[in-house]
Amino acid sequence: MKILKFGGTSVGSATSIKNVSSIISSIEGEKIVVLSAMSGVTNKLVELCLFFKDGNSDQFHIIINELKIKHENLLDELISSSENNENTKTDLNTHFTILEEILKRDYSEIAEAKILTFGETILTMIFSKYLEFIDFQNTLLDAKKFMVVANLEFPDTEKVGRLLKPLLKNTSSDALYITQGFVRIDKFNKISTLKRGGSDFSATILGAAINATEIQIWTDINGFHNNDPRYVENTHAIKELSFEEAAELAYFGAKILHPQTVSPVIEKNIPIYLKNTFTPEEDGTRISSEVTSHGLKAISAKDGITAIKIKSNRMLMAHGFLRKIFEVFDLHETAIDMITTSEIAISLTIDDTRNLDAILNDLESYGEITVETDHSIICIVGEGLIDEKNTANLFEILKDIPVRMISYGGSINNVSLLVSTQNKIRTLQELHIKLFENRNEPVLF
Ligand code: ASP
Ligand code: MG
Repeated sequence: MKILKFGGTSVGSATSIKNVSSIISSIEGEKIVVLSAMSGVTNKLVELCLFFKDGNSDQFHIIINELKIKHENLLDELISSSENNENTKTDLNTHFTILEEILKRDYSEIAEAKILTFGETILTMIFSKYLEFIDFQNTLLDAKKFMVVANLEFPDTEKVGRLLKPLLKNTSSDALYITQGFVRIDKFNKISTLKRGGSDFSATILGAAINATEIQIWTDINGFHNNDPRYVENTHAIKELSFEEAAELAYFGAKILHPQTVSPVIEKNIPIYLKNTFTPEEDGTRISSEVTSHGLKAISAKDGITAIKIKSNRMLMAHGFLRKIFEVFDLHETAIDMITTSEIAISLTIDDTRNLDAILNDLESYGEITVETDHSIICIVGEGLIDEKNTANLFEILKDIPVRMISYGGSINNVSLLVSTQNKIRTLQELHIKLFENRNEPVLF
């Protein structure tokens, strides 16, 4: 069984969706297709929820109408036979009626999750009907029946497998199932989400749950690039990455993958392929444990970073100081990304600032605190990177750009720099020149 996930602009229009169906038909064997919402739809639903929370029904009705027209137009372009078209429209209307009913009641987190995942609900329904219309046999599965993920950090994929397997009843060798990404059932047995961009995560949870042979994540870019193509010229797709390299890049800003995507499949060693729906003939990126190329692979950047410095003479020659500091962050369930220490100060970074005030309050008793917002972590990744000669060139960046923190040697596969976000693009561009373009030996991709 293979898991194929399509998201964003690859399901953004009728033309793209037709393309997706021909990609699916070209792939042999049993498949589960995971779809996200059409591009832009979840953003609209997020807006809708804000209006819903504020009780602004005029505004949310405008959004509902927009979404209805968008999906009706899609349906008209995909399904031309009037009978199939009308039946599918009736189903679509039923879904919209249910949405309107939810919006008549009071706001609740459950209502919000139902609304946020509505894009996936209606797109999978339309897609399944479209495939039926073109005589492509398929079974639509409701992800809420099996995507039970109580703990977002450690999904119990065996449980998902136990719930899913009895639903995979089609015995044909090219059975095709369609299901929704993004949605999950939480530990209270209530509908929730896997967080924004979570359909990638859905795909790997499912892959681990049924021991898939491979997972293909289809987007609109041909794999992980060696730098951010939005800001840097001459980037190119990386042919292969280890699970660890991909995890670091996804976590540190490479937008192509949800940060937790690789974690469910590492232990089972299921390869993930990142492919471009618009250029399916290209290799894309293969993420697996069998990686032959070493050394520098890629640079990515993560914005919205806050640096906190704690300066204290009490730290001098003292033990147990770091433990106390870390306990504060643990207490407030906030992950630390980068750390550097000197004898009397510690600097660290966080990206989740929801509990910042409480954290600062608790840290106050340990010393003088400085907080700097609007920073970016620049992450440089590659197996054995720090043993490579060329890597030293990255320190030349210090001549041109103020670097607030450097993390070197935490792992031999990664070096991270913290810079002010206003210097991010320049840092990415200059590092690209220093590390990829001015190198003495060829780069292996
Ligand atoms: N539709 C959801 C989002 O936009 C999930 C996804 O696209 O992966 O966040
Ligand atoms: Mg995505």
